Amino acid sequence: MKELPDILWLEEIRKEDIAAVGGKGASLGEMAVIGLPVPRAFVVTSHAFRRFLVETGLEKTIFKNFENLDVENNVALEEAAENAKAAVLRETMPQSMVRHIMEAYQKMDDGEMIVAVRSSATAEDLPDASFAGQQETYLNIKGNENLLKAVQMCWASLYGARALYYRAKQGFDDNSVNIAVVVQQLINSEKAGVMFTTHPVTGEPLSIIEGSWGLGESVVSGSVSPDKYIFDQRSEKVVDRLIANKKIEIIAEGTHGTKVVPVSPDRQDAQVLSDEEVARLAMFGKIAENHYGIPQDVEWAIVRSTFYILQSRPITTIKPKGTPASSGRTESGSTIILRGQGASPGITSGKVVIVRDARDTSAVREGDIMVTKMTNPDMVPAMKKVAAIVTDEGGMTCHAAIVSRELGTPAIVGTKNGTIVLKPGQTVTVDGEKGFVYEGAVSVQQPQAQAPVIAAPAQIITATSVKVNVSIPEAAARAAATGADGVGLLRIEHLILGLNKTPGWFIANHKEEEFVRELYNGIKIVLDAFYGKPVWVRTLDAPTDEFRNMAGGENEPVEHNPMLGWRGIRRDLQSKDQFRLQVEAFKRLWEQGYSNLGVMFPMVSHPDQFIQAKSMMREWGVDVDHVTLGIMIEIPGSAILIEEFIEAGINFASFGTNDLVQYTLAIDRNNENVAWMYDPKHPAVLRLIHDAIEVCREYEVECSICGQAGSEPPMVQWLVEHGISSVSANIDAVAKIRETVARTERKIILENARNRNA
Ligand code: PEP
Ligand code: MG
Repeated sequence: MKELPDILWLEEIRKEDIAAVGGKGASLGEMAVIGLPVPRAFVVTSHAFRRFLVETGLEKTIFKNFENLDVENNVALEEAAENAKAAVLRETMPQSMVRHIMEAYQKMDDGEMIVAVRSSATAEDLPDASFAGQQETYLNIKGNENLLKAVQMCWASLYGARALYYRAKQGFDDNSVNIAVVVQQLINSEKAGVMFTTHPVTGEPLSIIEGSWGLGESVVSGSVSPDKYIFDQRSEKVVDRLIANKKIEIIAEGTHGTKVVPVSPDRQDAQVLSDEEVARLAMFGKIAENHYGIPQDVEWAIVRSTFYILQSRPITTIKPKGTPASSGRTESGSTIILRGQGASPGITSGKVVIVRDARDTSAVREGDIMVTKMTNPDMVPAMKKVAAIVTDEGGMTCHAAIVSRELGTPAIVGTKNGTIVLKPGQTVTVDGEKGFVYEGAVSVQQPQAQAPVIAAPAQIITATSVKVNVSIPEAAARAAATGADGVGLLRIEHLILGLNKTPGWFIANHKEEEFVRELYNGIKIVLDAFYGKPVWVRTLDAPTDEFRNMAGGENEPVEHNPMLGWRGIRRDLQSKDQFRLQVEAFKRLWEQGYSNLGVMFPMVSHPDQFIQAKSMMREWGVDVDHVTLGIMIEIPGSAILIEEFIEAGINFASFGTNDLVQYTLAIDRNNENVAWMYDPKHPAVLRLIHDAIEVCREYEVECSICGQAGSEPPMVQWLVEHGISSVSANIDAVAKIRETVARTERKIILENARNRNA
């Protein structure tokens, strides 16, 4: 490699300089050179990184770590990665390099500028596309010391487990891969968005600009409906504008990350861009398009009338289904006609069928896209047939979300007006990950640079058990195939609700035996699939409104707020027959030798409820001292009284965060208007969980989680760090949660070892 300086400013860089500054650095440099207002930046070159390796002697030692490394062996891979990263972080940069970086930073607001520090990895002569996303970016960095540390952390990230795995699989020699680091002014935009420099489908000279308040992340991620402006380059006029109701914005939070906040009422319906601003953005778009020779997909930001172009890359229009898609972000060229929360991953196309109530489900055909206000248990048979599900209402823990994830069916919830926007018979494509509905049948290609998921095979042994949630017996085999350590939640109401009759109906019609058999058979399927592993079966917990449309539903009380109403253990303790029939099914299973069955009581708020339930079970012939009985912690009261519950004899407790969040923060979990406030990591929720875990640990009582938050890696990392004994995730999340658990446990071990050696 030819000798290069440690530092290059964007203006000194050309697109050919990939080997020196990586793909990201080269593309930003090119944009700056053609006159686009790119935020100020310099690059710590790949040469600097090599010099660091050579002068510290690391070049001679670090790659030894990777010789004969079996990257399929997760434990060995993690260990090699941790060792290499620790080695890079331990060494001190050469003094002259420190000086060069500090001198450059001094030129950015006298060393006071808040910057983003981004990795830009490269192999000789290769663009970084294949490495994108595998190395780290650090936002909100300020000050010399933090900057130097962030640069070194970017370097270390070149040896992360994911990156090592990917390179091994692609046949790259780790020693031939370099990394540059882009140090760039962080733009705390007042407004931001995206632009297509030409109509992506028709090719007309129209600039299509979407924008909203705050950081552009809200538009790119689809978490807000942005304003849309169409600028005709021929007449140089804004020819169409659609002003959206923008409820939230994403803003920088202190010196760490970002946060979602509500948009002030006066700005919610206000126009984000003036016509002059639209025209100016369109002009920058044209500069990029003319330079690169093809239409561009551009990210922009504006701060106090200063314009910034953050990224520019070619648009590739979605091809009709069946046509092989070319490389690039193919979905970016299609028209998104509806957005909501991606609730169950997967991409599929089909014809819309609008379902207003269970009677409409007779019109549902295999492969349709079912669009409804909210699914009900009586729609489950139809849900099993369709290719995707879209609802107006609901959040990540609503009925539609839970059942779709289990069926493996793509789903979007909380679109607000899907039943109005989408028309019966219309062909659409649903992306259940991003929460987008596209017009027509489109083939959405996975981004080329997407890293392979490192599968987390069952044989990774973790001290924290990783279990799975199940609601419908049909999902038992898929759930077991994840290699999960058991079932942390089996919701049995789905066994009954699918029959379209309320428990009360079975009792009133003297069909108790049928009811017991349904439960017995359904639960047995799951117990068999998890033979020898614990299966925690939860007693009935359906709010009264879910029973309304079923036979017997007419006898259900009408409640103003069913979420706070007659459900879970509070109902069972009063509806003794209903409780007795469930206990009868459990008793028969225990008698059959299914000692892996544990019973979990939902919605408990006082230890007396547990004591009463146990004594009723004893009365009905259960040997309560020799079976496993536990509770869900879904109500703050039960978290606060955990010690009293333990004294009352529970064998385990499991956080039902879906409810715990709604009852702690007063946020209806199914109300999309407040979904943005629904946060399992709210400090009050975390404090309740933390304190309850501490008490469980003290008494050595198993403590778990089975709410949706147990399928979210950052939350699981926090839980493992705070001593949870098991987690239970959705079927689709088990592999990644096992990986998160393994990684977190290894970190804890490593840190303890370091502290001991320090
Ligand atoms: C919960 O509340 O977190 C939970 C798992 O129960 P459900 O979602 O069935 O209310
Ligand atoms: Mg619950």
